[in-house]
Formats: sequence, C-alpha cells, structure tokens
Amino acid sequence: MQFLCDYLNEIVILSDGSITTCCMDPIGLNRYADIGQDDFETVLKKHECVLESIVEDPLSMPRCRICFEKISAAGFPETGTYKTNPSNKEIKAFVNNKKRPRQLVIEMSSICNLNCNGCMQSRADIPSTRTHPLIDFDALSTWILDKADNIDYLRLYNYGETFVHPRSFEFIELIRKSAPDIKIEIATNGLLLDTRAKRKRLIDANVHCIYFSIHGSDTQSVQKYMTSVFDFEKMMGIIAECARLKQAYGKNTCLIWKYLLFEWNDTDSHIEQAKYLARKNGIDQLIFWLPGFPSPSKRFPDYSINSVVDTIIFDH
Ligand code: SF4
Repeated sequence: MQFLCDYLNEIVILSDGSITTCCMDPIGLNRYADIGQDDFETVLKKHECVLESIVEDPLSMPRCRICFEKISAAGFPETGTYKTNPSNKEIKAFVNNKKRPRQLVIEMSSICNLNCNGCMQSRADIPSTRTHPLIDFDALSTWILDKADNIDYLRLYNYGETFVHPRSFEFIELIRKSAPDIKIEIATNGLLLDTRAKRKRLIDANVHCIYFSIHGSDTQSVQKYMTSVFDFEKMMGIIAECARLKQAYGKNTCLIWKYLLFEWNDTDSHIEQAKYLARKNGIDQLIFWLPGFPSPSKRFPDYSINSVVDTIIFDH
C-alpha cells in the first residue's frame, strides 16, 4: 500500500553520527547514512531514495513497518500525519515537497543528566543503541557548517539532554554565524544552564525557542517524575534570568514551559500555580501535554496520548 508520512520532512542525526528518518525512531532502526561517511549532498540523495521507498512500501524500512502495523491494527485513524492510498498527483506533490528536507534534527547527546521515572530515554536504554553518546563535534561541524543555510529549522534535541555535550554552546554560536536566518529550537531540562555565562551565550545566539521540560508546579509534584535531583526553585531562577537577558539584549527567543500532565500534577491548584509562576518569571508560553507514560492525567479522556491539551500565551 502506498503511504505518505509527514514525519519524512526531516533528517535526524543521532549522537554517533548515524542518520535516521525521523524522531519517531528512538533506537535508530531506520538508519540509512552517516555523517562520517556521507557528505551533505550524499545524505540528501539517500534521503530522497528512502523517501520514495517508504512512499511505495512502508514495510521497506523496519521502524516504518512498526508504525504502519500499529496504525493498521487501529483501523487507520485520522491523525492528519499520514495518508494511505494517495493519488499519483498527491504522491508527486509529497515527494517534491519532502525531497529537500527543511528540518535538521541533531542529537548532541544521547545521555541525560537526569533519570526521570518512566522517561523513554531510560525505558528503551537509548544510549546502548548508539556507538557514541556525544556527537563528534569536528565531524558534525565539517558536515554542516558550510551547508547550514540550506536548512530552515534546526532542532537541537532528540533523545538525551543537549547541554550534556560540553561544546553545545559553541556549536550553536557557529551555526548562528554560518546561517544567520536558521531557526534554532532546543528542548532541555534546564539544569545545566547553571551559570550566567552559559545563559548569556544561549540568548545572545538568538535561539528561536527554548522548551523547558518542567513537569509540575512545585518541588513535590516535579520530583515525583523528575526525581529529587531536579531543583524546581533553581529552575525558576534560571528561566527568570533568561527572560531578563532577552530584554537586555533585545532578543525574541520564545521561552516555553512544557508541562507533562500526570495524575499527581494535574489538579486545578497545580495548574493555577504553573500559570502564576510562568507569568511571574517571564515565560512566553505554557504548554500542557498529555504523555503516554507512566501515569497520564485522566482529566482529558478525549485527547490522544502525546498531544497538546492546552497552550497559554503570555503577553509581557
Ligand atoms: S512511518 Fe514512522 S518511522 Fe516511518 S517516517 Fe513515519 S513516523 Fe517515521
């Protein structure tokens, strides 16, 4: 059966330099290239071949086979992210549109400074599926820096904490220099933004948006998932300073609080407290998200797992 999957708009570089189709492939089953062996243009050609092969037969790539069998077993629900039995015209438009991917995902690190209870990172033992836990800075720079202006969006996270890589800040600055218009997006638990100098570098590099993963609105509710290592008060201070630096440097970096709704952190008072703190600390958006694991909130039976339940935008 022919199949169009919207996730095929990206190239994902894992921490060992291998390349896979999309962020839905945490253990790299669909690997098809490697930045150590394939230059930028070769990867684009391979991406196009893989794209055409998946469109013709989703069972041709192992991770796509899993996706396809899951949605087939569910009776092909309308999710808006894929299409089955497309017309020839739709296929042509899809391939034309996706063959030059506009989004690059780079997993700077496949390890994390936290070990959250039930996080995919620990459940699937992601690091054991990579031959290197931190991306080779020189190989990555050689591969991308003089090609970066071909890319519209750079997502600097996948499975693992970006700032565990000691040269992440340097890489962000180099990318910004070589591609002034590229939109850089980062997701982090924020704890490693632990000095003013690091926060200044990040904001000064004009990152488009930073997602802070903070799953609760006080120490107790956060630590149930993020463990006792997570210092909630310290994080609020880090975010507040990022917001001040933004103002001082005249930058537009969007500061986003991503809040996973579990059974224990989704009472009205938790939510009101999160809104209060977000406004107070200069957060631009607060996104409530329904996770699949380990204990998603039951207050949203009509929402599918791994979807946004609500987004609150603050005007400062
Ligand atoms: S079918 Fe699944 S693995 Fe394949 S590209 Fe789509 S989301 Fe990724």
